[in-house]
Amino acid sequence: MTRSFDPSLEKAKALDREDDLSGFREEFYIREGNIYLDGNSLGLMSKRAEAALSEAVAAWRDYGIDGWTDGKYPWFTLSEWLGEKTAPLVGAEADEVVVTGSTTVNLHQLTSTFYRPVENRTKILADALTFPSDIYALQSQLQIRGLDPEEHLIRVPSRDGHTLREEDLIAAMTEEVALIVLPSVLYRSGQLLDMKRLTAAAKERGIPIGFDLCHSIGAIPHRLSEWGVDFAFWCNYKYLNSGPGGTGGLYVHRKHFGRSPGLAGWFSSRKDVQFDMDHRLTPAATAGAFQIGTPHILSAAPLIGSLELFAEAGIDRLRKKSLSQTRYLMDLVEHELAGMGFSFGHPTEDERRGGHVCLVHDEAVRISKSLKEYGVVPDFRAPDVIRLAPIALYTSYTEVWEAVRRLKKIMEEKHYEKYEKKRGVVA
Ligand SMILES: *Cc1c(COP(=O)(O)O)cnc(C)c1O
Repeated sequence: MTRSFDPSLEKAKALDREDDLSGFREEFYIREGNIYLDGNSLGLMSKRAEAALSEAVAAWRDYGIDGWTDGKYPWFTLSEWLGEKTAPLVGAEADEVVVTGSTTVNLHQLTSTFYRPVENRTKILADALTFPSDIYALQSQLQIRGLDPEEHLIRVPSRDGHTLREEDLIAAMTEEVALIVLPSVLYRSGQLLDMKRLTAAAKERGIPIGFDLCHSIGAIPHRLSEWGVDFAFWCNYKYLNSGPGGTGGLYVHRKHFGRSPGLAGWFSSRKDVQFDMDHRLTPAATAGAFQIGTPHILSAAPLIGSLELFAEAGIDRLRKKSLSQTRYLMDLVEHELAGMGFSFGHPTEDERRGGHVCLVHDEAVRISKSLKEYGVVPDFRAPDVIRLAPIALYTSYTEVWEAVRRLKKIMEEKHYEKYEKKRGVVA
């Protein structure tokens, strides 16, 4: 408990007045009275994202087929252009990033490219807390090579059910491991792994390493190129607010440029020869080589507008505010909800947590339903986790304060008891 902590509404309002990023809230559509703390699952729509999508629709209307080469954002090079604009968020060079596919498809692509089992080095190293889609992808990648996932997919266990220890992950990087795929931030607890340390350990052992950045892109800065991370992949619809099903992204370190994509298609091609229609692929000499087919222009377009906001706000300032807001939320929880059965699922140090707070509670599912009724949008993850994400671009300190006030009321009145202990279809 912080002795000097001030839990008053006045303090929350003062924090908002001092916040030099508060103006960005105006850029978003925010429902009056509704406190949206789920931007780590689906970011809210910004006016710029909406405008960019409308522009893409207008380009289709006005240019037809010529939209591939004409207009403000020619579709033929949009994926590379968006990659260049995303690169500062992951600490990469402009041509090391491309906006394409989805998280899971990109993981398939990168595993197909970087997983090269030889002799006794056949295993893929992952962890027990990883998002299921990533695990399914890795299991199927092993299966199509005739390898049994039970034997060849290592999932490093968690000691406490919520977090991982870097030393456990490193200890599992044995001579049998051919590829490592780990999350940057764990989707449930919000633990931020030490990517620099893990990458250094993997490099020492000569094992390629890639990260799933779904829960860190747009929330924390990265230095992928400098750390020597081999590859990474992510979705753009969480912290980057690119809309439901928005096109994803991937990064490949330039030392791997020239490698043939594991899953090839005509958009893997060098752009200047793509329309030669030759049956021999000449892969692009950039991360662009890891695209497959025609880009999903309408699903990528909102990102054009969204990324402008990130360029203006700056990822370092956003991270600073995010840390301040999650700290404030944690302080409020400790101060206001003491003795009500809550604990934190993540490490509480700044260097070890991502953009959301993970509240663990036996009644998490019913409390989440109550919160929704009270106009607070959380995110429940089975069996006992409530994720709360104040988003630096659009959440105010006053909203964080008000969300905890409503949560306290729910707990005092045992309001959640009116619900069934059962999760919704999408939770
Ligand atoms: C959201 C998320 C995904 C989603 O993958 P899609 O292919 O975009 O459906 C994958 N992995 C992690 C860690 C996620 O948080």
